[in-house]
This record gives sequence, structure tokens and C-alpha cells, in this order.
Amino acid sequence: MKTLNTYITELKGSASIHSMQKAQKMREEGIEVIDLAGGEPDFDTPKRIREAAKKALDAGHTHYTVGKGILPLRKKIAEKEQMENGILCTPDQVIVTPGGKYGIYMAIASVVNPGDEVLILAPYWVSYEPMVRACGGIPVIVSLKERENYKIEKQCIYDKISDKTKLLIINYPNNPTGRILHREEAEILKEIILETGIYVVSDEIYEKIVFDGEKSFCLASIEEIKDYVITVNGFSKCAAMTGWRIGYTIASQAITDVMYKLFVHSITGISTFIQEAAVEVFSCSNEIETMCKIYEERRDYLVEEISKIPWISIQKPEGTFYLWLKAEVEMNSVEFSEYLLEQRHMIVVPGNAYGEEEGCYVRICFACEKERLIKAIECLKSLF
Ligand code: GLU
Repeated sequence: MKTLNTYITELKGSASIHSMQKAQKMREEGIEVIDLAGGEPDFDTPKRIREAAKKALDAGHTHYTVGKGILPLRKKIAEKEQMENGILCTPDQVIVTPGGKYGIYMAIASVVNPGDEVLILAPYWVSYEPMVRACGGIPVIVSLKERENYKIEKQCIYDKISDKTKLLIINYPNNPTGRILHREEAEILKEIILETGIYVVSDEIYEKIVFDGEKSFCLASIEEIKDYVITVNGFSKCAAMTGWRIGYTIASQAITDVMYKLFVHSITGISTFIQEAAVEVFSCSNEIETMCKIYEERRDYLVEEISKIPWISIQKPEGTFYLWLKAEVEMNSVEFSEYLLEQRHMIVVPGNAYGEEEGCYVRICFACEKERLIKAIECLKSLF
């Protein structure tokens, strides 16, 4: 038989999805697990969003929406991005996508030609590298330094730039470290973009999950470089809508038009009733803030308790619902994750999946009830 697409055949699986499936399987087998794996809110989608979906379904809004998404939703998105993040854009520069994940893929596929190099700042979310490979691109990993708390340093990026570099992928607030983008780091990125002309995909899906009154800087708000940046965001994390699959991209008109060519042939449009429900997200700031406050309390609890465990070190996350934990143990991250699973039925994601090959790191997700976190802490304290 003829070979299948080798770009795709050779992709590795998703570590986060794998760990979620593992937890699900164990639960189905009746095993009690401490599941700290998959990153998704444990809250229900706010009521008014659910009600809007029901209303749209009952009104028979179940047909195609052709175009980049329903106009009322794209208007709300453009307004919000301008007012809250300083991105100057029109609704025509917005494409509503099936989750932020497809938006990222669509952006990479629209920018990258086979053989182009794509810089990815590590630690990075598990799917960027496979998406780049699926498009025939060559991922080039820029390892940020843990001892500098993963701060962006100009030289680290410059060292990896070649004449084949086309794109840089950034993600702030960051999965898995919880770090936000600071103004001075955005200035470094600005200089690099203006000097080299590379594009940037900025994955901002955790934008609303930030703590201590902080805000992650939005790269596309810098006027001089806004046309180089494709911003990806969505409702999965902020409004607990992971299963609805709805997100969006914002980019220059030229890039949006190219992305739309791929979109129209691969997606057609997003479910009409889901888009109508998503319009309600913009009236749910109280619910979103409440969820964020609870994540912050859980973060504070975890940080305080984990700091008492001598063989673990952490940086306090500024956002997201992840804790990036370094264990001083004689194991690598995969062995340590297996050990936690076997010894304590605790499920985490090994750090090597995020491009951290040295040291024993694991990601734990604290989007779960406090009782589970208490159990997790007890388990960790009882080891070694
Ligand atoms: N983004 C989440 C995570 O990192 C959900 C799973 C996925 O799509 O990777 O756990």
C-alpha cells in the first residue's frame, strides 16, 4: 500500500489528552483516582449561556452559518478585544473557530510552508509542536530558563533565528508555568518582530484566569507590530465551555482572508446555536470573576502547602489553573508520573511533554474541588 501522509503519521499523541483518558479509564474500572491531569474548568457553564443555547435550538437555529461567524458574536469579540486588550480590529478581522485549538492550527497552516522554521518558547503546550509538524514546518525550541522564572530573553530567541524562521508561537498566561506576559517582554518581542519580520501566534486562551489583580500583556495591542500577530482566544477556559468547542482568531485583514480560505473548506461554520450562546459570555463577567477567585484560592492553598515539601520546588503561577512542579528525585518526569500513578493513583502530566527534558517536572491542574487538592497534598507529603 502507498504510504500515508508522513507529516501526520509520525506525530506523537497528546500527553494531556492521554492522561485524561487514563483517568477516565481508571474511574470506569472503579478505581479511585486523584485526577490532576486534563486542563478544564470543573464549573458548569454559566446558566445564561446554557439558556441561550436552548432558546436558539428551540427557535430552530440549527442550520449553517456561512461566513466567519455570526455578526453579533464577532462584533462583541472585536469590541471586547479593543476595550480590554487594546487590539484595534473590526468584526471582519475575527473568525469564530471550533475551539482555540483549531484557531491555532488554522493560523499555523496559513503562515507556514513546508521547510519553514517555527520558534516555540518552552515550556510549551503539548500541541504546538505536532501542529507545526503536521504543516510540514520545523519546530525550533527556545528553552527559557527556569532559574530566571522563564522570563523571555532576547538572546535566547536570537540564537535560534535563521533565514528560514517564519513564525513564533507564544502562550500567555502560560500553560504549564502559569507565567503572564510582562510589558518589558512584549517590548523584546516587538524589537525581534520589527528586525526580522517574523509572524507571531499569540495563544491567550487563559487571559481571564489571572491572579493578584495582574493582567497579561496583549502583544497585538502594540500598534507597530499588530499586523504580524495572530491572536487566538476562546471561551473554553474563561466561561467553562470546553465541550462546546468555540474560540476565535483576530489578525490583520490580509492574514484573516488567507485563514478564511482554509476555514471555509475545512469547517464551513460553527454551530449556530453555540455561537448564539457564546454572545452571552460577554454578560457573564460576574460568573467569570467568581470562578477566577476560586482558582486563586486554590492556587494559594497549593502554593502554601507545597512550599512545605522539601523535595519539591515551584514558582507561584500568575495565572491559569496549573502548577509547574519540579521534583528533586532520582527519576525523570515520565518515571515520576508513573510512580505517582502506581503508588498513589495520582494522575499528572509529565514535564517532558512540555519540552522540558532536563530535571523532573510535572504539571498539575487545580481546576478541581478543594478536597481533591487536600488529598493530593497528603499524598505528596507522604512520599519519600
Ligand atoms: N488544553 C488542556 C490541557 O492542556 C486540555 C487538553 C488539550 O487539548 O491539550 O490540558
